Formats: sequence, structure tokens, C-alpha cells
Amino acid sequence: MKVVVIGAGVVGTACAWYLAEAGHEVTVVERREGAGLETSFANGGQVSPCHAEPWANPSVLPKVLKWLGREDAPLLFRWGRWDPALWAWCLRFLGNCTSGRAAINTERTLRVALYSRACLGELRAATGLAYDQQTRGILHVYRDSREFAHACAASEVMTRHGLRRQAKTPAECVTIEPALAAVAGELAGGIHTPDDESGDAHKFTTGLAALAAARGVNYRWNTPVLGLARDGDRVSGLVTASGTITADRYVLAAGCDSPALARPLGLRLPLVPAKGYSITVPVAGHGGAPLVSITDDEHKMVYSRLGDRLRAAGTAEMTGHDLTLTPARIAMITAHARALFPDAGDYGRAEPWTGLRPVTPDSVPLLGVTPLTNLFLDTGHGTLGWTMACGSGRLIADLVSGRPPAIDLDGLGLARFA
Ligand SMILES: Cc1cc2nc3c(=O)[nH]c(=O)nc-3n(C[C@H](O)[C@H](O)[C@H](O)COP(=O)(O)OP(=O)(O)OC[C@H]3O[C@@H](n4cnc5c(N)ncnc54)[C@H](O)[C@@H]3O)c2cc1C
Repeated sequence: MKVVVIGAGVVGTACAWYLAEAGHEVTVVERREGAGLETSFANGGQVSPCHAEPWANPSVLPKVLKWLGREDAPLLFRWGRWDPALWAWCLRFLGNCTSGRAAINTERTLRVALYSRACLGELRAATGLAYDQQTRGILHVYRDSREFAHACAASEVMTRHGLRRQAKTPAECVTIEPALAAVAGELAGGIHTPDDESGDAHKFTTGLAALAAARGVNYRWNTPVLGLARDGDRVSGLVTASGTITADRYVLAAGCDSPALARPLGLRLPLVPAKGYSITVPVAGHGGAPLVSITDDEHKMVYSRLGDRLRAAGTAEMTGHDLTLTPARIAMITAHARALFPDAGDYGRAEPWTGLRPVTPDSVPLLGVTPLTNLFLDTGHGTLGWTMACGSGRLIADLVSGRPPAIDLDGLGLARFA
């Protein structure tokens, strides 16, 4: 079958790989000059199913109120840029802040994320793909003892889903990652998830795209999709400046641009951009960069060692599709990184970046069929797109191929918002 994938981020690239593996004739249409140049470019690097708690949960509202109006808040609302889609998203988000909804959304996200981590391991073993990966787990550290107690309680729920989440004392945290020694006195404790991983999502995406091309996947770079043409209950082609591209099946994996492409077809995808920042710090000549991936709960920052670089990433801004690199936000994440790992690297040569997470109100991606019989969704992966890319791609390849997917798709599709 001829299948077209729109978007060559980590999600679209993984999907194209699994479609090609299933024997399809695959074309990827991408507006940029290569793979992984938008949100998948410089993210936090964590493959973190064991930290798959949804944004929407009962404890988030008091925190959001506390952060309102603070320029250094981990979650920042810039009201001037709000549109009706964002207001509608917020109402749905509020509806997901109950403990019951959070439990359902955690299970759904975990289902995809755990499957995806297994797919990633298999893919790595089969292809030898290298992307500065570290398989030393993730250590989530807490300064606030109440937050730590809350995380320990959440661990009990997560372990029921088969996850290994181990509570650690500050001293044990330093044993796991000696680079934390300077802040050991500030820590209340940590949660170690030894089965989680980290790695460079961009390196992974470009490496996998090259393997997919060698396998016959056709890439149409510098080709913005201007719209999807519809014929009855089917998509009949992709409109581009250089003509219409047709196929038997179409997969929408365009990250934050997916709603704009779906809307003219009558599909409303409840997905908005949540802007985040990262810095990438060269570590050569410095001994204080961690090897274990770290999450700093207080500042909502993550740290991943990528070969001779340290990636520090975090913060969320609800500010539309704006990609301005705000100096105050860069300074803030640099200060957090420097405070946690003073001798990690040359902070003066840190490379700043910003990207837009495609977030749904329940933190569960949008996967699977649509009312249009030959259009599939592989989008809305929010804070965990790198974590969930391989599993999502394989699920879509199974659906397109008419094979039963390896995990239940219940609650993962657009129909849950009907
Ligand atoms: C600061 C930050 C830290 C993060 N940390 C982590 C982490 O540690 N772990 C994790 O799992 N996730 C993390 N994420 C989330 C993760 O990066 C995203 O979920 C993921 O990159 C989304 O991938 P995607 O392929 O859906 O989107 P993208 O990477 O944005 O890809 C979409 C592609 O579609 C193309 N496209 C869009 N519109 C069109 C069009 N009309 N025509 C043609 N092409 C089009 C774009 O050019 C782009 O290449 C982080 C995100 C941020 C911002």
C-alpha cells in the first residue's frame, strides 16, 4: 500500500520506519530541509515512562495559582496571545484535574510509553542505531518533603502497573549520581526509575530517517503541505506548491501544526503548543556533569547527558506558536542548571533552544483512526513525544496494515473527545 506520513519529527520518522518494515511504500512529506528540526530537535532527552503522570491532576491547580504572574514560573500563561482554541483546551484540562481522570490518563499514557520503550530497545538491538543513549535510569530529586511524600504515594500506584520506582534517601541519590554531591544537603529524597533511559532525540531521528531511506522510504523535504483534499469520507491527496501527492493511506504526524491541517476536514484536534526551553552545554574539561538523567522537581527541569554535552530543559509557556527565545527564560534555566551542577561544563558556550510541545488536555496522545477512513493520527504526544514515538509508530503501522495492535487502543483516539 502507498502511505504518506506528514511530518518528519521523531513521531513521523518512527512511524515511517515501522510502515516500511511492514512492507508499505512510504513517502514522508516535510516542510523543513531534514528530519527532527522542530520540537524533536533539542528536547530533554528522557525516555521516561516511569514519570508519565499527566499535567492535569488534583495538585496542579494550587501550583498554577501560585505561579500566576511570576515571570520565573515553570508554567507561564501569556494572556495576550490567547485564542478560543486555548480557552477550550483549558476547560477540558480543568475537567481532567480530578484524581479519577488522572488515574485513567496515567494508565493510558503508561500503556503507550511502556510499549514504546520496549519497541525502542528492540529497534536499537536490530539496527545498532546509536544516539548518545544512556540506560542508567532516571533519578527524580525533590527538595520539598511534602512533594517527595506525594511522589512516594504515586509510586505505589505506578508499581501496581509493573513499574520499578524506588524511593531513595539524599545519600543514596548521591551514590546513584555523584554529580549531585554539591546539593545533597538541600534534598528531601529522590525516586529512581532504573528502567528509564535517555538519549539525543534529534540524533535518533536523523539516524532512523537515514535507515528508513536506505530501506526505500521516499523523503520530500522542503515541501509544506498546504492542505488535505477530501473526497467524501476519504482524503484524496495532499496539496503542495509542487502538486498534489496521493496515496492509499495518510498519517498526520505534524506536531503542533496537526490541528490546522485537520480543521478544514471537519476534525477538531484538542491540541495546543506548550513552549519549552533547553540549553546544551559542552562538558569537555569539566568533571561535574551527571551521567544518570536527572529530573529536578522544584524547577520542573530535566538533565540528560548526551555524549560530551549536557542538555538541560524545562519550563512551559502557553503562548501560541511563538518561538521567540526569551532571554529571561534562558537565563532562568541556565541559573537552575548552574546551581544544581556548578562544574558541569562551559555555561558561557551553552546553546539555547525553544520548541513547542503538542499537548492535549489529558496528556494522552491522539492515536489511530479518524472519521475519514484512510486518515490516521499520530500526534499530540506533549511532554513525552520522544518517550512514546516508537510505540505510537508501530501501532499506526499495525492499524494501516490491518493487523491487531500489540496494545489496546481504547481511550487513545480522537473519539474520546467526541
Ligand atoms: C523543552 C522540551 C523538553 C522536552 N523533553 C522531553 C523529554 O525529555 N522526553 C520526551 O519524551 N519528550 C520531551 N519533549 C517533548 C517532545 O520533544 C515532543 O513531544 C516531540 O518532539 C514531538 O514530536 P513530533 O514529531 O510530534 O513533532 P515535531 O518534532 O514538531 O515534528 C513535526 C514535524 O511536522 C512538520 N510539519 C508541520 N506542519 C507541516 C506541514 N504543513 N507540511 C509539512 N510538514 C509539516 C514540522 O516541520 C516538523 O518537522 C520535550 C519538549 C520540549 C519543548
